[in-house]
Order: sequence, then C-alpha cells, then structure tokens
Amino acid sequence: MTETEILIIGGGIAGASTAYHLAQSAHDVTLLERGAIAGEASGVNAGSIGATGWGDMPDLEAYLTMGSLEMFKSLQLDLGSDIEFRQSGSLQAIHTKAQYAFARDRVLHLRAHGHRLELLTTREARSIEPEVNPALLGFIYMPLRAQADPQKATRALASAAQRSGAGIYTQCEVTAIRQRSDGTYIVETSQEPIAAGTLVLAAGAWCGSLGALLGLRIPIVPVRGQMWATESLPPRVCHTISSTESALQWHTAPGNEHDTPPYLTHRGDERLTRHLYGRQTRDGDIIFGGDRQLVGYNKVPDSAGIAVNRDHAAEVLPLLRELPIKRSWAGLMPFSLDGKPLIGRIPQRSNLYIVSGLASSGFGRGPMAGKLLADYLHTGYPHPVLAEADPARCVTLVE
Ligand SMILES: Cc1cc2nc3c(=O)[nH]c(=O)nc-3n(C[C@H](O)[C@H](O)[C@H](O)COP(=O)(O)OP(=O)(O)OC[C@H]3O[C@@H](n4cnc5c(N)ncnc54)[C@H](O)[C@@H]3O)c2cc1C
Repeated sequence: MTETEILIIGGGIAGASTAYHLAQSAHDVTLLERGAIAGEASGVNAGSIGATGWGDMPDLEAYLTMGSLEMFKSLQLDLGSDIEFRQSGSLQAIHTKAQYAFARDRVLHLRAHGHRLELLTTREARSIEPEVNPALLGFIYMPLRAQADPQKATRALASAAQRSGAGIYTQCEVTAIRQRSDGTYIVETSQEPIAAGTLVLAAGAWCGSLGALLGLRIPIVPVRGQMWATESLPPRVCHTISSTESALQWHTAPGNEHDTPPYLTHRGDERLTRHLYGRQTRDGDIIFGGDRQLVGYNKVPDSAGIAVNRDHAAEVLPLLRELPIKRSWAGLMPFSLDGKPLIGRIPQRSNLYIVSGLASSGFGRGPMAGKLLADYLHTGYPHPVLAEADPARCVTLVE
C-alpha cells in the first residue's frame, strides 16, 4: 500500500495551495482529486481577487485576502506562471441614496482603520472606466483588488506543488476512510488504497460527505453560483465590477437560519437581493454572475436568475444590453452555516485537519488559507488569526 505523511483530499485552490506550502517545507505530501485539478468551483469562478489592505490590526480576512494577493502576484511575476493576473482595481456601483449612505459610512469606517478604498463620483469613475452608466450615484473604488484566470491559477499552484515534490493524483476519488488503532488513516480510493499519518479535508462543497465517512458532521453546504459570458470583444472593461445592492442587504439582514448560511441571494425560490460581480477576461469575454442559491448539488444554471443578473449588470455597464449571452455555467461554493471559514484541526479525530468553508470568495482567499493550514501542520501551532476559523466551533460527531 502507498504510504504518505500527509494526504490532502481535494484538488481545488485550497488543496493545491496546502500541498504547495507543505511540499515547500519538505513534507511528504500527496493530493487526491476525484476529477481534474480545478474541475469544480476553483476552475469555474469569476477570478475576482478581493483586497482592501492589511488595515491597522490585521484580522483573518486581511490575512486571507492580502496574503493570497501576494501569492497570485508571486505566481505571475516571480515563478513564471502566466495566470492572467492583473491588479485591475475594482469599482462597486451605487444605485440608490440608501446605498450611497451605506457606502459612504463603509468607506469612512474602513479608511479610519487603515484600509485602501475611496468613494468616487460617477464622473471620476468614468474617467478610469469609461463604459459605466453616467446615471449612477457613485462608486466605491478598491485599487488593490485584482483578477486572474481561475483554471490557470489553481493548476499553477498544483504544478508548483508537484515540482516541489508533492504527489498529485487526479481521477482518484476517495470512497472510504478508516483509522487503524495506531492512528494511521487507511483511505480507499477509486485507484489504490493509501495509508496516511495525517489527513487534510480540502474537498470544498463535498466536505460534508467526507466528514460522514469519518462519522463526523461538518456543516458545509453546497451553494450554487452561476455565471454567463458575452462573445469576445476588444478591451472595454478595465476593472472588476460589482454593485452595492447585496452588500447593503446583507449588512442589514445576513439572512441565515439554523440550517442555512448567511449572504445568499435567495431563501428557497424567493429572491432576497440581487448580487453582482464580473470582469472582462484577457480573451475578451465579458463575464458576470451573482446568484447564490441552495439547490443541493444541482449545477444547471437557472435562466431566470441569469436574466435578472444581466439586467443588473447592464444597469452598471449599459453596453451589455446589446450583447447576446454566448454561454452560461454554474458551480458549487462551500458555505459554512455561520459564513466563516473552517481552517484548522478537527478535534474529534487525531491528525485530522480541514481547509474549507471559503464560500463565495475562496478563489481570492484560498492560497493563503492553504498556507495558514500548511504552516499550522509544519510548526504544530495555529496562527492566532485562525482562532475565528477553528473547526471545533461547529464540527460534531454523528450520533
Ligand atoms: C460561479 C462562481 C463564481 C465565483 N466567483 C468567485 C470570485 O470571483 N472570487 C472568489 O474569490 N471566489 C469565487 N467563487 C468561490 C470560489 O470558487 C470557491 O470558494 C473556491 O473555489 C473553493 O475552493 P475549494 O478548493 O475549497 O473547493 P473546490 O474548488 O470545489 O475543490 C474541491 C475539490 O475536491 C474534490 N473532491 C470532492 N470530493 C472528493 C472525493 N471524495 N475524492 C477526491 N476528491 C474530491 C472535488 O472534485 C473538487 O475538485 C465563485 C464560485 C462560483 C461557483
């Protein structure tokens, strides 16, 4: 039987980054992926990377966003991987007076705590993003925000892990897990079984199923995100684009109940808010998305939701009204029930760790989530900012 010191399950951005950083610290690490690297959420997302700076007192969010931003930069600029990284900055549209008041307070609050963002008039925004709608009330400008190709970035991390010595096995599904009396995990797969001293769950929206194999309830649920794209155009959109509508809604009413996560656009079939994110890719497609809906493991895009999202996008970029939708797609985001990540040790079993719950912003936060977990495994100590991501708060034994 193949043996490894640390076995990671899941070849998305969280697993790939964990493998890379463990291999860099000379650990014997193996990663198993059921399909292809970046075959799920990490390969189909919008490629937006969120960041507003470290702030005066960096918390987990600052570490995840700013640490990841540095890693994306390093992949593109130092390690020679073309991941289409661009520090494009981002513009968040303000449509109403209520949104304006909320946006102004948010900008003032974050700036007072050392973050980098500003409120722009629409005229100022049009001077850096000429296609935005002149009828809007203003924009929040976040200059550190960036973008990259999600497939290329995730695969670049997995390749870097492999070059550093990690074993990466694709088309290899974990089907059963048991723990021997000496603590070793015996992991049955669609290929050969593997024995591992330590196990890391990085299976995104499927962490709950893996937990069940271990007799654990891991409260991570799949949330469908969906996107659409236009035909390829010459460069027209420079920044990543979003809207303040959902930010105000979720600030007022996060919307979580005991068995549903916060920050969704729907409760059942009922729409609670519109949400928006998008950008123009290097090959010229303008891509947008927004809806976050609990529909189990259904990855079929909902055309009614796409139509609402397209109208929302066209309110910000009127050129989109004339452009047909060329294709649409969906993926599953790993949401925890309290909306916070799970990064750390699962106390109910020995040598069991998780890096997941990265929700709707796991592409932009995944690289640093993997590094924080890898550093924990390497040193034996969690970074203090991981306290709020401690899995002990919510993982339980199945009765
Ligand atoms: C439409 C959409 C748009 C998004 N846009 C953005 C964005 O712009 N910016 C941003 O930051 N985030 C975005 N996200 C969120 C982001 O994509 C996710 O948070 C992130 O990719 C999660 O990464 P992960 O590695 O945890 O999970 P995943 O990428 O889902 O990887 C988990 C992997 O585990 C594998 N796996 C599962 N079970 C097993 C098993 N039994 N055996 C072996 N392998 C297994 C799966 O095949 C999968 O490849 C978006 C998501 C979607 C769906």
